[in-house]
Amino acid sequence: MIPEQDKQSVKELESRLNGLLQPSCKDLAVFVVEETESTNADLLRLDYQEHENKCVLLALKQSQGRGRQGRKWLSDTGSLTFSIRWQFNRSASQLNGLTLAMAVAIIKGLQTLGVYPLSIKWPNDVLKGSGKLGGILIEIGKPMSDGMTHAVIGIGINIQRPTHAAELNHEVAALYEGLSEEESSQMRQETFLVLIQSLISALTLFDAQGFLAFRQDWMASAAWLGKKVILSSGSSGTMMGVDQEGALLVDTDLCIERFLSGDLSLRPD
Ligand code: ATP
Repeated sequence: MIPEQDKQSVKELESRLNGLLQPSCKDLAVFVVEETESTNADLLRLDYQEHENKCVLLALKQSQGRGRQGRKWLSDTGSLTFSIRWQFNRSASQLNGLTLAMAVAIIKGLQTLGVYPLSIKWPNDVLKGSGKLGGILIEIGKPMSDGMTHAVIGIGINIQRPTHAAELNHEVAALYEGLSEEESSQMRQETFLVLIQSLISALTLFDAQGFLAFRQDWMASAAWLGKKVILSSGSSGTMMGVDQEGALLVDTDLCIERFLSGDLSLRPD
């Protein structure tokens, strides 16, 4: 059970964030919860239907964060985890490249906070140096009666290193080290405010113009561009970037192979 005092501070935080974001993100409803299993799962449920156009759920703690294909996203009190529910004027098949556009928005937001060096690992990871700093998981909601498409965009960023990071089989990065609990929660708020504004303006642009409007920025931040890479499918070759739909292009010497979706993981060779 959540203590009464915590409930109150969560409500205070919620109204502060709504107040701060109203001028730049009109009609956006921000909800804050102390703890939940998965912010994506919550926003995919109908409880938030009255705010279905634009809403955000920030969880101070997420116990069952999800990655692709049922993988887990580790988070604890040093993490920033939130999801955005967004209604698009495009069909689900026109959302190709949305994950990549969101990664560009995260990079731009974090750069304004002075975080370097950042890059994007196709399709859904944000790297700081060679470690994984954050991930994006986009899930498409059930079709609405009016034919509109809504998607839930889940974001996890390590403000500090997660406690169980050593259990992961890859390098993990964090925005900061050695923060007190209070400093960590302050940095979480600051990072959230910056990222939300960057993500909301990217969502608006994506809805109007699709991935093409982000491709150039994506290429400028792509990890291992022009380098040898290997995919979990077994293919390998030179990473050539992405096409207009956000599909990965790999030069295998025989041809340029194109990978649009599916459960592929990219590694340097
Ligand atoms: P990969 O990183 O192997 O290419 P992926 O990016 O496809 O996989 P996702 O499903 O996006 O994987 O994210 C889940 C994976 O991210 C987990 O399997 C784990 O390896 C890693 N991970 C989980 N939590 C964190 C975290 N807080 N920080 C960094 N990495 C994490």
